[in-house]
Amino acid sequence: MKTLLIICDGMADRPIPALGYKTPLEIADTPNMDWLAKRGISGIMDTIAPGTTPGSDTAHLALLGYDPYQTYTGRGPFEAAGAGIDLKPGDIAFRVNYATVDKNLVVTDRRAGRIQETKALAEAIQNIKLKGAEFIFRSTVGHRATLVLRGKGLSHEVSDSDPHEEGKKPLKVVPLLQSEEGAVPAYPIIAGGVRKYVMRRRWAAKTAKLLNEFSQRAYEVLKKHPVNIERAKNGLPPANYLLIRGGGVVPHLVPFYQRFRIKGACVAAAALVKGVCKLAGMTVVDVPGATGGVNTDLNAKAKAALQQLQDHDLVLLHVKGSDEASHDGNIKAKIEIIERVDSIINQFIDSFDFIAVTADHTTSISVKNHTADPVPVVISGPGVRTDDVRTFSERAAAKGGLGRIRGKYLLPIIIDLMGKSSKFGA
Ligand SMILES: [Zn+2]
Repeated sequence: MKTLLIICDGMADRPIPALGYKTPLEIADTPNMDWLAKRGISGIMDTIAPGTTPGSDTAHLALLGYDPYQTYTGRGPFEAAGAGIDLKPGDIAFRVNYATVDKNLVVTDRRAGRIQETKALAEAIQNIKLKGAEFIFRSTVGHRATLVLRGKGLSHEVSDSDPHEEGKKPLKVVPLLQSEEGAVPAYPIIAGGVRKYVMRRRWAAKTAKLLNEFSQRAYEVLKKHPVNIERAKNGLPPANYLLIRGGGVVPHLVPFYQRFRIKGACVAAAALVKGVCKLAGMTVVDVPGATGGVNTDLNAKAKAALQQLQDHDLVLLHVKGSDEASHDGNIKAKIEIIERVDSIINQFIDSFDFIAVTADHTTSISVKNHTADPVPVVISGPGVRTDDVRTFSERAAAKGGLGRIRGKYLLPIIIDLMGKSSKFGA
């Protein structure tokens, strides 16, 4: 039995006045998704929990059957894994922006003019060595990069150096566990005991110190780097500072196969999603032409998904464009990408036994951000207890036989349909 799980990032929406109070999914022409709804079971899903607005990383953890509250420490590790860094449980990973600071160290551009070519800069930074930890630095897409600290006595419980605003200086990294008077805070922060807390605080202080040293050294390397001198000559903002944020410790996720006894593959362009799948031990496929944007090559992704059929039981196909269009408030682009996803579903119907379609969260066009509204989900395939739902949308799915489920139960439901679940009890 083979399953395709299509996740359209941020596809779900709220009713939009300009669409006559319908959602983009309701307006979009989606004959294939509607066909799945007719011969499948529909429902709505709180990816994390009712009223909790999911991030893409926590949502995908849940959709892969992991409890995000047990496994999530920050987005850094998933971003780093998605960037192809071989992580070990216990590594501390951060997201990094190449940014521009002026001579007074004030951030003038948090994305260094959306710099594209950062390979030479990353190589220069990788040469920075500091006592106390191994530093692994990698550029990802555009102005983004990732930083991993490996070693003993490190912690992710440190603040960001990113001021998250232009016109401000980068912040000094500080341990997050320090109370103002240096007192030990009350339970539950000291869960695990005072001694453990004191250790955590020491590790956080060490990590903060290392990151501040690293930032300073990186600034010295970057400000005189030939790439930046050339950029300045051409009137472009130099990428002369690294803004660090989103620290997390690499979690130990029980590998997908060990958990479910099925082999999983992931076809995605977004580093964050690739990272979640990689840390879960799935095969992650790179697709040339898949950009993660609204113009991504969906046919190339469909082809890659079909290629994974041979060696895998479940293929996760992720499309980022729907989320991007929503963050931009672009109704037309959102409808278009939904219709384009619909148009590739045809190719899968004969090859996969089960096809499920859902979103990782709602991204509201009006709010231009994620919201906690549940997302629609449909599962189609042999043995599925069909219902009366005839179309695929937020409102139609709410009347379906799956009812309202949590994200972490989606995979167990699919795995049971695939005949791969084991009995609880005698
Ligand atoms: Zn998302």
